[in-house]
Amino acid sequence: MTTTLPIRSIPHASPTPPDKRQALMQNPGFGKVFSDHMVTVKWNAENGWHDAELRARAPFAIDPAASVLHYAQEIFEGMKAYRTAQGIALFRPEENARRMAQSAERMAMPAVPEELFLDAVRTLVRKDADWVPHDDGSLYLRPFMFASESFLGVRPASEYIFCVIASPVGAYFKGGYKAVSVWVSSDYTRAAPGGTGAAKCGGNYAASLIAQAEATRNGCDQVVFLDAAEHRWVEELGGMNVCFVMDDGSLVTPPLGGTILPGITRGSILTLAREAGLRVEERPYSFEQWRKDAESGKLREAFACGTAAVIAGIGTVRFADGSFAIGNSGDGEVTARLRAQLLGIQRGTAADTHGWVRPVA
Ligand SMILES: *Cc1c(COP(=O)(O)O)cnc(C)c1O
Repeated sequence: MTTTLPIRSIPHASPTPPDKRQALMQNPGFGKVFSDHMVTVKWNAENGWHDAELRARAPFAIDPAASVLHYAQEIFEGMKAYRTAQGIALFRPEENARRMAQSAERMAMPAVPEELFLDAVRTLVRKDADWVPHDDGSLYLRPFMFASESFLGVRPASEYIFCVIASPVGAYFKGGYKAVSVWVSSDYTRAAPGGTGAAKCGGNYAASLIAQAEATRNGCDQVVFLDAAEHRWVEELGGMNVCFVMDDGSLVTPPLGGTILPGITRGSILTLAREAGLRVEERPYSFEQWRKDAESGKLREAFACGTAAVIAGIGTVRFADGSFAIGNSGDGEVTARLRAQLLGIQRGTAADTHGWVRPVA
């Protein structure tokens, strides 16, 4: 088995005409508009990775017994291609490749070789470069893999499909950054020790939707999960990590360790925060302490972070018995500074001293 697999190009016979594409990209929202092509690669136990193709985006034909439809063997990644002054760039794509391999291991799936993952993503971005927005939007990339074997027995499947699709997205916050409100769930948890919390798998999201619906019902934008064992420690949001800025110059965030998704945005922010002179503390932080610190003023700011929203300030926290506000309920100073710095690096307007930005076209 070779690690470099050539990707055969079968271009779309009738790609979206430029005027129609421009209309679609006018106000794309999130995850609703898709580019013309996709990359697919197959895996089976006999041949390993094979049949790598760049082709027109189209529905899959899968058997009703495909094991993903029954036992949810599915993982994904989320990353963005940005237009910079120099062209088009990806942000730390090797980290996504590595994390996808770790998710695969946890879900008993074959790992996509790092080079094949990167090649698939770059090939799609180059082919659909016209779908990368020229404004402050970006092309959201969704690499994913699922078990395609037709078999109802319970064991790791022997056939998989790896695919990358692309979706132009607008700036997450239009017209300025608005702090979000969060709902702390007391009925539901996201991940238990020994479970799949650190893997980016669809099943985690399926299990979080009822809590997200509860958050929406209570007028909140996002849900915050506490740990499963004690129901005491703050873990993360449904799809974003969380950080706290204290009045003593420390930045606190829950430690990784199996139940939290290791966010690439989280990791990048911790690096930037350390360099900015903040004392980064990866340590357990209880909901009770969060509330006390917000009320005493020790907690200055809190924010959620992830690829989609980048950094979103948390203004209000609601829970079954009440609510509290953080700082001035708006975007805090440290939050705004870290966001500007990260966006600047991604957009090529700030120095990329860590070599995080990878030009693709
Ligand atoms: C993807 C994801 C994140 C954020 O990860 P990034 O690499 O920063 O996009 C955080 N939490 C969960 C549960 C996620 O699925």
